[in-house]
Amino acid sequence: MAITRFAPSPTGYLHIGGLRTALYSYLWAKKTGGEFKLRIEDTDNARNNEDAVKAILEAFEWVGMPSDCEIEYQSKRVDIYKKYINQLLEEGKAYKCYMSRDELDALRAKQEAAKENPRYDGTWRPEDGKVLPDIPSDIEPVIRIKAPQEGTINFEDGVKGSMSFDANQVDDFVIARANGMPIYNFVVAIDDHLMEMTDVLRGDDHLSNTPKQIVIYNALGFDVPKFYHMPMINNPQGKKLSKRDGAMDVMQYKKDGYLPEALLNFLVRLGWSNGDQEIFSMDEMLELFDPNNINKSASAYNQEKLDWLNAHYIKNVTNQRLANDLKFYDCEIEGHDKKEMVLDLCKERANTLLELKNAIENILTTPDAYEVKGSKKFVKEGTIKMLEAYVSLLQDNKDLHTPVDIENITKPFISENGLKFPQLFQPIRISLTGGTNAPSVYDIIAVLGIEETIIRIEKAISVNFNKEA
Ligand code: GLU
Repeated sequence: MAITRFAPSPTGYLHIGGLRTALYSYLWAKKTGGEFKLRIEDTDNARNNEDAVKAILEAFEWVGMPSDCEIEYQSKRVDIYKKYINQLLEEGKAYKCYMSRDELDALRAKQEAAKENPRYDGTWRPEDGKVLPDIPSDIEPVIRIKAPQEGTINFEDGVKGSMSFDANQVDDFVIARANGMPIYNFVVAIDDHLMEMTDVLRGDDHLSNTPKQIVIYNALGFDVPKFYHMPMINNPQGKKLSKRDGAMDVMQYKKDGYLPEALLNFLVRLGWSNGDQEIFSMDEMLELFDPNNINKSASAYNQEKLDWLNAHYIKNVTNQRLANDLKFYDCEIEGHDKKEMVLDLCKERANTLLELKNAIENILTTPDAYEVKGSKKFVKEGTIKMLEAYVSLLQDNKDLHTPVDIENITKPFISENGLKFPQLFQPIRISLTGGTNAPSVYDIIAVLGIEETIIRIEKAISVNFNKEA
């Protein structure tokens, strides 16, 4: 049974890299009958903001991955952290360091000049028999952990394998600032222990924090959880994902017309696979996902794949669901007598809900304007006459309803008049929807009904497709 967490710092919105970490953590917890917990890492007051927290929670609601515990906020847990700082001070496992900013800067400059890695020189580190300097009266001390100075810190990473760090690389790092506020690597270890984490999945940008956190676990006698550090999501060129490539607010995907199922399916494959399977329902993800199979190398964001998956889910969810979701885009189709027909027709060609909305609106609203390029290309000498003849054919067949019926009268019309299909179809598409990018003419006519079709073609004729005479 795995207890996992997602622990965003609310310094901005939730982006897809974060959502992937959350998804993997969620899947692993649920698959093993464990728990998935959310924790907001908001101790860095200056950079945090409430809007960011709201945006993160909204994104979790949208994708449907609720926390199994009340959401923890680090900003509300400072007293807990202080208790552990005091405990470590009392046990001699942490100590007060009175080095001034100037002294630290001078130390760093000296180390840089000697081409050494910057590190604390241990001035205030207590040792048996060592005499510490006099405590200056004008300096509030920071608290440093007394880290091991020799040996190695080892752990078995579920993605990267055996990891080993020289203990002396860790340094006596600061665990609380002069104002008493504990710092990141300290509070993460405390929280992961108190929230009973068994497995910590996170981006490999956190790998260098792990030995520091292990020093804290060891100092406090806590069990170290299992870590999985996963590689980043890059852009298709193998570089860091930028906003332009898709590193945007998860909620922007909603605004752009993506279904949460498609986004999660897309993310599960960015860093993990099961043979060459591409489509995963939530149930399949839960059955098959295993963090021990997370890819060792970075994955590449692929917009076409996301669009393809989204088109798949749009085709496969119920029309009722689509009608509900479309309301978010101010597309009200609920209660429309053509709801089922128009959704069946339009969902076949839509990559996003926005495309679906446009396709629906193009069919359900009489066009006022006609695509200039298409009209120039397809409305030629003779076109109006041909359309008038087609309208009169429709008038004689007002009782027809199905696409096949329409096809059965239209095909002979085309051959009798020696036409090519686009010669008739494109002007009709433009008349009915305003543009050439529309579903099959037979389908549109069947959805609109013969009567409305005639009205729209006649309107286009009467204004000559808004073309200059
Ligand atoms: N708060 C960290 C972040 O947003 C994550 C910490 C962790 O997963 O350990 O990057």
